[in-house]
Amino acid sequence: MSNIAENLNRIKAEIPENVKLVAVSKTKGLPEIMEAYQAGQRVFGENKAQELIAKQPELPADIQWHFIGHLQTNKVKYITPFVSMIESVDRMKILQEINKQAMQINRIIPCLLQFHIAEEETKFGLDMKEAEELLTNSSFKSFQSISICGVMGMATFTEDFTQVKREFAHLRAIFQHLKEKWFADAPDFREISMGMSGDYQIAIEEGSTMIRVGSKIFGQRY
Ligand SMILES: *Cc1c(COP(=O)(O)O)cnc(C)c1O
Repeated sequence: MSNIAENLNRIKAEIPENVKLVAVSKTKGLPEIMEAYQAGQRVFGENKAQELIAKQPELPADIQWHFIGHLQTNKVKYITPFVSMIESVDRMKILQEINKQAMQINRIIPCLLQFHIAEEETKFGLDMKEAEELLTNSSFKSFQSISICGVMGMATFTEDFTQVKREFAHLRAIFQHLKEKWFADAPDFREISMGMSGDYQIAIEEGSTMIRVGSKIFGQRY
């Protein structure tokens, strides 16, 4: 068995059944992705539109692609025909464009709202005030080609596990607040995407339903 298959199997054995594993294949080539595919993996994550657009036609059609990076509005139309979830919605303008492009091809795109939960300024995402502004916006209510399925966030890159735990607990609290206040009647609003190679165990303890793991499956990125 290859390392990739072994790594995948080890992680899958370790995580609860209700936690979805997104294999983050950014910077990795088609042969590596195919190894994961042949080991049974079907959900993959990419963070650059260009890269995703180049890889997708070369790979099996039953792969579910999650977009997890910062998305520019002019790239939306290239990924809406096939993407199965956009996890990184962080502003009204991008949601508007996703809705517009999805409507034209008669699709409903599952989306997550990305929150800024880390201390680092470099990470993208909404805060609660921005999210509530978005949710109360009258055009948001008219969007029929998107389905908001939950929240996504990245913790600070630190050895301080108590901080990471606190940040994940914060994202779970955000999810619960939004669920009660805005999505009580929306069964699709159920995902908390948090946890990467270095912190997915902590994320799962804090209620993650979806982990995004790259280097622990495919090895270091260079
Ligand atoms: C790269 C990336 C990951 C995976 O990171 P690893 O540490 O390699 O597991 C997860 N989420 C996002 C948004 C990423 O950009």
